[in-house]
Amino acid sequence: MSLQLERTPLTVFKGVGPAVAEKLGRLGLNSVQDVLFHLPSRYQDRTRITPIGALRPGMDAVIEGVLLGADVVMGRRRSLLCRIQDGSGTLSLRFYYFSAALKANLQRGSHWRCYGEARSGASGLEIYHPEMQNLDTQQAAPVAATLTPIYPATEGLSQQRLRSLTDAALAWLEQGNSLPDLLAPELTEQYQLPSLREAIRTLHRPPPDIDLQALEDGRHWAQHRLAFEELLAHQLTMLRLRAQVRAHRAPVMQASGELAHAYVQQLGFPLTGAQQRVADEIRVDLQQSRPMLRLVQGDVGAGKTVVAALAALQALEAGWQVALMAPTEILAEQHFNNFQRWFTPLGISVAWMAGKLKGKTRANQLQMIATGEAAMVVGTHALFQPEVQFHNLGLAVIDEQHRFGVQQRLALRDKGAAGQFSPHQLIMTATPIPRTLAMSAYADLDTSVLDELPPGRTPINTVLVSDSRRDEVIERVRAGCAEGRQAYWVCTLIEESEQLQAQAAEVTWQTLCEQLPGLSIGLIHGRMKSTEKAELMAAFKEGDLHLLVATTVIEVGVDVPNASLMIIENPERLGLAQLHQLRGRVGRGSTASHCVLLYHTPLSALGRERLGIMRESSDGFVIAEKDLELRGPGEVLGTRQTGLVQFRVADLVRDADLLPQVQEAAAGFARQHPQRVSLIIDRWLAEGQQFAQV
Ligand code: ADP
Ligand code: MG
Repeated sequence: MSLQLERTPLTVFKGVGPAVAEKLGRLGLNSVQDVLFHLPSRYQDRTRITPIGALRPGMDAVIEGVLLGADVVMGRRRSLLCRIQDGSGTLSLRFYYFSAALKANLQRGSHWRCYGEARSGASGLEIYHPEMQNLDTQQAAPVAATLTPIYPATEGLSQQRLRSLTDAALAWLEQGNSLPDLLAPELTEQYQLPSLREAIRTLHRPPPDIDLQALEDGRHWAQHRLAFEELLAHQLTMLRLRAQVRAHRAPVMQASGELAHAYVQQLGFPLTGAQQRVADEIRVDLQQSRPMLRLVQGDVGAGKTVVAALAALQALEAGWQVALMAPTEILAEQHFNNFQRWFTPLGISVAWMAGKLKGKTRANQLQMIATGEAAMVVGTHALFQPEVQFHNLGLAVIDEQHRFGVQQRLALRDKGAAGQFSPHQLIMTATPIPRTLAMSAYADLDTSVLDELPPGRTPINTVLVSDSRRDEVIERVRAGCAEGRQAYWVCTLIEESEQLQAQAAEVTWQTLCEQLPGLSIGLIHGRMKSTEKAELMAAFKEGDLHLLVATTVIEVGVDVPNASLMIIENPERLGLAQLHQLRGRVGRGSTASHCVLLYHTPLSALGRERLGIMRESSDGFVIAEKDLELRGPGEVLGTRQTGLVQFRVADLVRDADLLPQVQEAAAGFARQHPQRVSLIIDRWLAEGQQFAQV
């Protein structure tokens, strides 16, 4: 009878008692299947003997040769240095720690086999602390038949132990114990994937002729096979989540478009083609009886707010409430002002909700939301609070989605309209999400792209300037402001603490006030009261301030068209997406805009490369793709916030080309093999990662 390896505990193996099993448990190894999926992190090639003359620095190799002598040398640290020679060359072996017995053994003329990494040392190529085998006294063991795997280990578990465990587990696998190949045969055929068993065996015990470079780069077919399955598992949970959301009923929003028409009339500019197209997509979604789940991606300044307003007006005309949520108070407030200005003339009341809202005003707003007197509600996360009860929420708009996570997205769903309906959801992000990430982190959403900026924008000229030239930059600000332009001076800090950020900004503000006596300079940071912040933003917008010193609180959404110069201090501390967001605060009017990246010297090579991308490109998608390449997905999206999973084998950058295939395969797979879906998800995703249950 064959056993289920995913349920077979490791104590079935000889020599694995409860104590060892506990250590293995700490590595996440509980079943025979877990051991088979615990793959080596790298390999050593001990399958052949390398001529000394063919060694290069950085190579791990087995060599054999005759000792020419061994001497203790003093140098910076005392060491034992031996020369060894074969027909092709000589090499030094160096020991910093050595016993008298070892030294005595290393006789001139004796024969040795050594294994280690060749490096360039004081005497040319050297191997430090090689593993040594004396060929005169020991039977020369055959060289290894396969590459030697090196496993990710834990304290108290040797590589030897992990190797013998995997040997045992592989033997079980060969005996036909079941490790079901969950990929359907039509998939393995279509994408020419090897069997699971073959892939696992190859990765644990690679044959000597394997392409080791491909293996170390994670590009071998055996790794592709597993990555494919893992990505499929992930894609399947997203599909499941989507199906669950879609199973709810949503309000069907029929509207004549009268309100939207009146709104567009009063805007004072025509919609861009992209705005029109995306608005149409949303209009169709809102007429369906299942919840819309749509992500609108548009670069900073693409005009997402107008698109959101059009969606809101359809819901409002159909008699439903709309909530618009933004990640910061400044941004929420700006939206509130816009919507009030736009909607009040149309006879729609707009309510405001933020954490800091207190007392009577708060009670009053809550009341208006609960009775439906305010049909449009704008606010921050505070909209999630249980005390916020909607009368009949039909559409939730979330601005700048990258600050919110999957879980929050789901929480909003539960604010559902009158219990029986789920609201439609529109999510807007200015962080262009690289295609590969969008496919995996947002596979549960439909996406629209606003890929056209409103006309009349002039590109931003970005320059890199070292902070040793700070005085020149200050002079430039003075000259610019004298010509009637307005400028931002952005202070960045690595510290998360708002207090430190505020202090740093305050110091900068003071020095700038001293150095630029002719200008009126404002200061804005996260520690200020929201009324103060609002007043400052209003003064800046009105042109009463020349220069606004700010922390990154101005990052998202803030819109002052006359501001055309931005200085960003220490830009090397920020992610590229964040820099792009910041820079998007200028270039909103018709004058040519400039952004000065005032970096701190010395700049690392990576820092130079990253800032160079900012100088070369103003396309958010290009910047996001590069950022992903340089920093990895967790950094780009923020793993915790998005619920983006940590993959075991797959790598979103490296395996980007697998994603379209996996995506294509997933829907058909779920339809044709529904019984395998849970099995594959359970195999690859830890419980916390399966948001399908939420
Ligand atoms: P974002 O996509 O970054 O949220 P906003 O919605 O804040 O962009 O729009 C940026 C600016 O562009 C605003 O001042 C807005 O009024 C203006 N705008 C939006 N759409 C158009 C358009 N079609 N033509 C001209 N200006 C527009
Ligand atoms: Mg915006």
